[in-house]
Amino acid sequence: MVTTPDTSVAARAKYEPVIGLEVHVQLLTATKIFCSCSTRFGDPPNTNVCPVCLGLPGALPVLNRKVVEFAVLAATALNCRINETSIFARKNYFYPDLPKGYQISQYDRPLAEQGFIQIPARSGVKKIGITRLHLEEDAGKSLHEGFADSAEKTAIDLNRSGVPLIEIVSEPDITSPEEAYEYLTRLKEIILYTGVSDCNMEEGSLRCDANVSVRPRGQKEFGTKTEVKNVNSFRFIREALEYEIERQIGVIESGGKITQETRLYNSNEGKTYGMRSKEQAHDYRYFPEPDLLPLVMDEKWRAEIRKTLPELPETRRKRMISEYGITEYDAQVLTLTKVLADQFEAAAKAAKNSKRVANLVQSELMGRLKVKGLEIEHSPISMFGVAMSADLVESGAISGKMLKDLYDLCFQRGKDFPAVYEEEGRPEQSRDTSALEKIIDEVIAANPKQLEQYRAGKKTVMGFFVGQVMRASKGQANPQLVNDLLAKKLEG
Ligand SMILES: [Zn+2]
Repeated sequence: MVTTPDTSVAARAKYEPVIGLEVHVQLLTATKIFCSCSTRFGDPPNTNVCPVCLGLPGALPVLNRKVVEFAVLAATALNCRINETSIFARKNYFYPDLPKGYQISQYDRPLAEQGFIQIPARSGVKKIGITRLHLEEDAGKSLHEGFADSAEKTAIDLNRSGVPLIEIVSEPDITSPEEAYEYLTRLKEIILYTGVSDCNMEEGSLRCDANVSVRPRGQKEFGTKTEVKNVNSFRFIREALEYEIERQIGVIESGGKITQETRLYNSNEGKTYGMRSKEQAHDYRYFPEPDLLPLVMDEKWRAEIRKTLPELPETRRKRMISEYGITEYDAQVLTLTKVLADQFEAAAKAAKNSKRVANLVQSELMGRLKVKGLEIEHSPISMFGVAMSADLVESGAISGKMLKDLYDLCFQRGKDFPAVYEEEGRPEQSRDTSALEKIIDEVIAANPKQLEQYRAGKKTVMGFFVGQVMRASKGQANPQLVNDLLAKKLEG
């Protein structure tokens, strides 16, 4: 629930929000960024540690090549320019879960710069700039609860210390909470497609901090910004920004001043709270990391990585729309995850008629999912099931009507198409010519005028007869068979 401070609509219209997002993404390498410890999530505390990630004196960091390649892949997907030389820097601050007393990051010479993401906007498409993408190591984790002495002491788990991160900083191009939400959704989608991270927000693989300020519309200078930290879902970020924008406008309108500070969002109350000021005073005293050489990426290496870039969601959607004749909306749904899009395309290609698979997804699957309120990932009918059913219709084994009935049964029973098709005894539409011939004879006898027209050369009347026979058979007849038999009888 968002509770917004009471600011009038007129007051709100006078101001323009400016939002910048900083997103930390954990890279899916097996080992840490500067040592060979495992990055596995959920292991017993302090089991994946060594002198390097414990920050013991004399231990030297060695850069993980895979981390660099993953970061470059992500940066390329985000349209960034990859700098040939980037420099690691020490970001000095003290925190109990940062054993070295500094974090190895990148400062004035980051890995990549000047990228962008396109988001849907009212005017069509809006480009949100990406200022920089840099590499850094994660800190450990402070555990304030769960132990017998948690009331007096804080426990530290350093398994996460040295886990590789990329930080992606946006330009202050975002002007509404909705745009922030879209930007994050697209960003996550692109990163997932590259496969360099699982972007799992519950496990902290994707974290977002938001800077937000407001200024009178038309003013060039930015207002004083606040930073909202520790928000663990995109929806909450949108809510936190909505609250924060209203709060700032309220403060300014009542003659107050915005204090530059870090604020925390309480999702239960839908409010942000300022943190104690002593935790905000940062002077990082960055300086180049003396234990690591500059990272130099020649064009050959960058080109090799570029070659591994998969087709990205936006391009894929455009191609799928033209290749399978599906709608923009369906392309959106079918590319929700790379796995789903791969499954759909595999099914479409394996089936005898790929357009029929696309049509079935649009006409029969989506509608039923919507009625049940299910996301496509939880569909009882898999893409393989859709392909199989499409082939059965294609070959004339089952009718469109039978397919609908079988799909209904799949949803009732929560089972995939092949299973239900077996359970129903592999039903086939009627190929019993004697029963069908009887229907055809009746239809012809009941329509002497149309028969006369047909025999006089008006062959288009055929369609009328097919329709009549299909109706009389309650949609159970095989259309091909109906056509063949009708042609024979009508010729007399
Ligand atoms: Zn280690």
